[in-house]
Amino acid sequence: VELYGVDNWGGGYFKITPDGKLGITPFPGKGVCVPIPSIISGLQERGLGLPVLLRIENLLDAQISLLHDSFASAIKALQYSGEFRGVYPVKVNQQQQVLEEISKVGDRYNHGYEVGSKAELIAALSFLKNPKACLVCNGYKDRDYIDLALYACKMGFLCFLVLEMPSELPLILDRAKALGIKPRIGVRIKVSTQAGGHWAESAGDLSIFGLSTAEVVDVLDLLRGQSMLDCVQLLHFHLGSQIPNIRDIRTAVHEATRMYAELAKEGCAMGFLDLGGGLAVDYDGSHTNYASSRNYSLEEYCTDIVESVMATVDEHDLPHPHIITESGRATVAYYSVLLFNVLDVSRLENRTVPQTLDEEDPEAIHNLLEVYNSLSLKNLQECYNDAIYYRDQMRQLFRLGQCSLRQRAMSDTIFWAVIRNIAEKLPEMKNPPSALKDVDLALASIYYCNMSVFQSLPDAWAIGHLFPIMPVHRLDECPEEQAILADITCDSDGKLDSFIDIHGVKRVLELHSVKPCEPYYLGAFLVGAYQETLGDLHNLFGDTNVVSVRINEDGTYDFIRELEGDSVADVLSYVEFEPKQVLENFRKVAEQGVRTGKISPQERFMIMRAYERGMRGYTYLNVGRDCDNPD
Ligand code: PLP
Repeated sequence: VELYGVDNWGGGYFKITPDGKLGITPFPGKGVCVPIPSIISGLQERGLGLPVLLRIENLLDAQISLLHDSFASAIKALQYSGEFRGVYPVKVNQQQQVLEEISKVGDRYNHGYEVGSKAELIAALSFLKNPKACLVCNGYKDRDYIDLALYACKMGFLCFLVLEMPSELPLILDRAKALGIKPRIGVRIKVSTQAGGHWAESAGDLSIFGLSTAEVVDVLDLLRGQSMLDCVQLLHFHLGSQIPNIRDIRTAVHEATRMYAELAKEGCAMGFLDLGGGLAVDYDGSHTNYASSRNYSLEEYCTDIVESVMATVDEHDLPHPHIITESGRATVAYYSVLLFNVLDVSRLENRTVPQTLDEEDPEAIHNLLEVYNSLSLKNLQECYNDAIYYRDQMRQLFRLGQCSLRQRAMSDTIFWAVIRNIAEKLPEMKNPPSALKDVDLALASIYYCNMSVFQSLPDAWAIGHLFPIMPVHRLDECPEEQAILADITCDSDGKLDSFIDIHGVKRVLELHSVKPCEPYYLGAFLVGAYQETLGDLHNLFGDTNVVSVRINEDGTYDFIRELEGDSVADVLSYVEFEPKQVLENFRKVAEQGVRTGKISPQERFMIMRAYERGMRGYTYLNVGRDCDNPD
């Protein structure tokens, strides 16, 4: 069933197998395909339950290679004489495993790191080994941060201290003098170009990051006064993440390159042009400039950048700078998939509408039944309005004590039957009224899923970001249900009711009916960027289990790493409980129960065991475990 648009958003890394499973194809064109359900079985055999964050190492390697190969092709085709030096922005996914993998694969391409804080610098330094790879130090800096970056320069690494604020410069110069180390300075500018998309506020005159043109001039004057203009070697800007429109990227690159040329004219050494992040991921597969897509290919992105930089520096007779990009999202998004199971389904029951009503029933129910009987394609909107009017009248009567529970229930049954009939007839209409567009949503089943939106897909909750979500099996069966997803937090925001669609956004997801005693597995894809560290502990649902696989060219795969998710004791300690003390407190409560005769000592023993087991256990629901033998 190609209802889920896998070929549009999957980047060639996922495909549906003939027997209806979603497979991972890490070597596009080579025929290797590992079905995700077989990985789930492997996990369960190893005692790891869902939800699980599956990391596919090959996809991280593949994306880094793709980025470098694409820039290399553009550079060769356009005879550009600088090099491409990508860096990985650590903030996008700081997991040790990601940095380690970047260091391994990235070494082939001189791929470095971008850091935005002291902690990120310390993490990146532990993996740095290649003197040709750049280390770009962004973010606000104190003396310790600056000292560490200067030591990195001293050790021979290509480390740039990028000025985010003018006040950082005197401190950098002081520390450089004190330590006797010549700094490599970068200047972050505010470009005036403002792009579309969710994360566009990193640019523009009012952005909180970077120097204004007047501040750039102050910096140049101060450095000139100290004969240190040769320390300025890099110009940096960041337009924002997930820039959907290539035109915005071209405009900003042109503006930044003009500024680069001006700095060179002022006497700065230059040599590196850092274009920040922004390379978007086509989450919805629409290839458009919607916020969750991009209207350009990777080849186009690289060619446009190289062409635009070259045209501007050539005009000024300057050597071609090395081009740095800080692509994070596009590097790691594909790498992680959140796999989770459906726990239960709630749907609006299709109850029988009575043929007739009692004389004593309120007039509003009689009117509702008439609406139901008179509904046709010609009067959908009118029937919809009337049904809501009479349903509200019945609610009011109920509040006033003028209708019984049974009469109210009857009116609900008729009301929903009207809505269902409208939803069924709507597709037959050429121009359905916009007021009826949410009718489908009102009838959608709710699939309760074993995960927390706040912990695992925080951007979906916070800014309505769309991720591809689909079943990973039964894809050879037609899905019969229209669904929205609810998580297991007790929060009405803990739901997913917007889904990718190449024509915009769809409000319901087509899913299969859940069969009794058969698990139903869903995956949220392209979740490798930003989600892991932004996730929070709402309702004390902690980190999920994490498993990394590496797929071999012969189609076998290895479980490289397994990380158990947070236990209840772990999450309690994050909110300042002391697990031992918690246990001791509860022991006293149980003892009190024995003393007052509410429970026996044997029952106390069983209760304490259950409590301790709960403390050790996973914060998510353990489904399918043998409850008689939970240990
Ligand atoms: N560089 C800087 C300075 C950033 O603030 C960010 C994130 O917004 C990035 C790079 C990464 O951007 P992206 O994930 O769009 O590649």
